[in-house]
Amino acid sequence: TPPVGVALLGATGSVGTSALRVLERHRERFVPVALTAHSNQDALQEQVAQFSPAYVGLVAPPTDELPEDWGKGRSCLVEAATRPDVQIVINAVVGAAGLEATLAALTAGKRVALANKETLVMAGQIVTDTARRHGGALVPVDSEHSAILQCLAGREPSDVRRLIITASGGPFRTWNSERIAQATVSDALRHPTWQMGSKITIDSATLANKALEVIEAHHLFGIPYDRIDVVVHPQSIVHSLVEFVDGSVLAQMGVPSMELPILYALTWPERLPDAGVPPFDLVGLGSLTFEAVRHDDFPMLALGIAAGRQGGAAPAVFNAANEVAVAHFLDGRLPFAGIVQCVSAAVDALGTMPGDTLDALLAADAAARDYVNAKVGS
Ligand code: NDP
Ligand code: MG
Repeated sequence: TPPVGVALLGATGSVGTSALRVLERHRERFVPVALTAHSNQDALQEQVAQFSPAYVGLVAPPTDELPEDWGKGRSCLVEAATRPDVQIVINAVVGAAGLEATLAALTAGKRVALANKETLVMAGQIVTDTARRHGGALVPVDSEHSAILQCLAGREPSDVRRLIITASGGPFRTWNSERIAQATVSDALRHPTWQMGSKITIDSATLANKALEVIEAHHLFGIPYDRIDVVVHPQSIVHSLVEFVDGSVLAQMGVPSMELPILYALTWPERLPDAGVPPFDLVGLGSLTFEAVRHDDFPMLALGIAAGRQGGAAPAVFNAANEVAVAHFLDGRLPFAGIVQCVSAAVDALGTMPGDTLDALLAADAAARDYVNAKVGS
């Protein structure tokens, strides 16, 4: 059988480069036929030299000297995702910018291996409906959701008592609230267990990432919010658990590497031998520990879950306000504690905007961005 064509959106990022390592190891099964990035032309050029994809797209070229046959502008994501020679789209774009391509790929009946969790948070109902209506499959790349998918192994939501999502706790797990309030950008970028892009690394420090993941799990698996729990697990070895109605609990474990869930999203429900993943060494790990979330010191988690429960435009507002607030924090315009203050104020002010159509959600997303920008004064 010929190899399966893969479009990789966000090829130059943390998930994107992990995905290329996976594709390279399994080149008899998968071939990257389309690669896109935002503006990192040099990194994309190197990948093109290595993989010779049929399609290359750059959303915001940094110079005018772009190879003639490259796609440019926002539309290149949809172009890459809907090509006839593409069967699987790995969406590893960060933020709401990935939504259009996910919807287009699902409408074209493709499998979407989704790392881009923000778009499920923003428009979960629309994305899952689109997948259902057109026969496209939505398979999570996020390690927690990959774990849950593997533990569920096809069981229905009615068999599930509870989903238990693990969180590393981030760099401030053991810090007191005064210290957290004064955290610098470099403090927040020092994640204990995962090497990731800067946006999700900050989200892991505030626990916004875990709120996004609870909402993501709700949409992917159809489990109500009151049956999704979060527990802190600093070693990031147990990637998440499912407690079934009879009290049995299944957990999925593995070394903290995104290559594992990326490969599973490509092969699901099958598994492929992968010599790139070293043998699992429980004795070497020694002990695995679990603790409760310190909600008072990490208010972002409850805030995001409340936005998810509220539904409508609230999760889109939460997500967009968070994206903008994180960008301001990274640029030094907002203190760490200002992130949750901005997001909370935005959800209060705009969370009840209409959210029943894609246009309404895009309007809420834009309003939340304007609101936070105005608040920070830029
Ligand atoms: P990175 O910042 O490392 O990479 C983002 C990628 O998307 C880059 O290729 C970037 O291109 C591209 N990109 C950025 N903005 C846009 C845009 N507006 N339009 C098109 N492309 C864009 O992020 P990560 O790889 O860390 O994360 C990607 C997604 O995966 C996020 O949604 C994150 O939450 C999720 N995720 C990440 C994990 C990880 O381990 N990193 C784990 C689980 C989920 P360029 O290089 O040109 O800027
Ligand atoms: Mg995750």
